[in-house]
Amino acid sequence: MQELWGRKVLLKEIKQLTNHYQCLPTMKERTSRSIQCLRCGQLHEKQTVKLFNGVYFCPACIQLGRVDTGQCFYHLPEPELIPRSVDFSWEGELTKGQQEVSDSLLTSADKGESKMVWAVTGAGKTEMLFNTIHDCLGKGKRVAIASPRVDVCLELFPRIQAVFPNEEMILLHGKMEEDYRYTKLLVCTTHQLLRFFQAFDLLIIDEVDAFPFVGNPLLQYGVVQAIKKDSSLIYLTATPTQELMKMTNQNQLKLSILPARYHRRCLPVPKIKWSKHWQKKITHGKAPKGLITLIRQLLVDNDLLIFCPSIVQMEQLEKILNGIFSDIPLTCVHSQDTDRIKKVLNMRQKAYRILITSTILERGVTFDGVSVIVLGANHPVFTVAALVQIAGRVDRKMIYTAGEVWFLHDGCTQTIKEAVQQIKKMNRIGRERGLIDEL
Ligand SMILES: [Zn+2]
Repeated sequence: MQELWGRKVLLKEIKQLTNHYQCLPTMKERTSRSIQCLRCGQLHEKQTVKLFNGVYFCPACIQLGRVDTGQCFYHLPEPELIPRSVDFSWEGELTKGQQEVSDSLLTSADKGESKMVWAVTGAGKTEMLFNTIHDCLGKGKRVAIASPRVDVCLELFPRIQAVFPNEEMILLHGKMEEDYRYTKLLVCTTHQLLRFFQAFDLLIIDEVDAFPFVGNPLLQYGVVQAIKKDSSLIYLTATPTQELMKMTNQNQLKLSILPARYHRRCLPVPKIKWSKHWQKKITHGKAPKGLITLIRQLLVDNDLLIFCPSIVQMEQLEKILNGIFSDIPLTCVHSQDTDRIKKVLNMRQKAYRILITSTILERGVTFDGVSVIVLGANHPVFTVAALVQIAGRVDRKMIYTAGEVWFLHDGCTQTIKEAVQQIKKMNRIGRERGLIDEL
């Protein structure tokens, strides 16, 4: 029975069906010609989704198992909340900025209010959640932490389990092997939320601006469906989308800003440098002069991440650098690279000094002692969010290594300027609030 609490699943997704359940419709006719899927919210022209037996289905969320009008969703409402005692094991200490956000989250969760936390890269977001999660669990509430990115979920799960050592937890994502079971606390991908209905009193979405959540109406519908009526929805981001900012400006969403990192140093401000004809040069196997000088200079203090707009350019640059820096271990990595995980690990363990990469490493990975160069920062693949995230790879650890961020371009864009302005703005707010010590 517990298996169905707050769930919205098809018969084949259920391990053990008892006599006690509710049936919810899978699709709803919106007009005489259109029908809406009630798992992912997508509207379809009836004619285009009609099967030979007269049944309608949803192609939009079919990767989660086919929803059609010949089936129903099985569901049971979550029973009343029963306060309980929850073991909490965290010895760390929050900084002043973290404490302020943590307190505001506690209030929001209590009031059933939604909120966006804009915390700069490397601020220490996860720790700020612990008190609120603890408080909610203690009140008998059900809590989920979701992220669009599996790697974020995989990293979050053990950290949260360690803080709530005696709490039953489950991790849900597309490739999981573990069977679903009811727990009061869970970590999942945003896709998995499509299988919940009025389940959570507190739903936290980490990296809300990341692919594939951003601009994805299916996943956003899933969030709205997964929360209870008087629940609190918390969005966490270092680079909020314009849509989220608009919601906070219109006061539909409360906003808390954490403008400074836990180590109280300001965010490294990117240096912008013009690199004449760099694309033409590397296509012809030649090194842009300024780039080589810069690499030499940055390698004195730190290892180096070089972001490139395309795989071809990454590979061309790798060849050129191998010729010039024959004694320096380097490699390149991109999304189609089967050795991707191994290479990233090797870079973290200092087996390489230079890693040439695509935007796959713009977030989610922390390297010790690195500087960053974005080659072709004016390319459209580097959005404001991508540039801010990339700059945020530098100086994340407690020990200062004088890491630098360089944006190289052959035509400065508004996007580059906006990214730099956003970083400077956060540093300004951090100083004003006394959260930054000057070096
Ligand atoms: Zn659907």
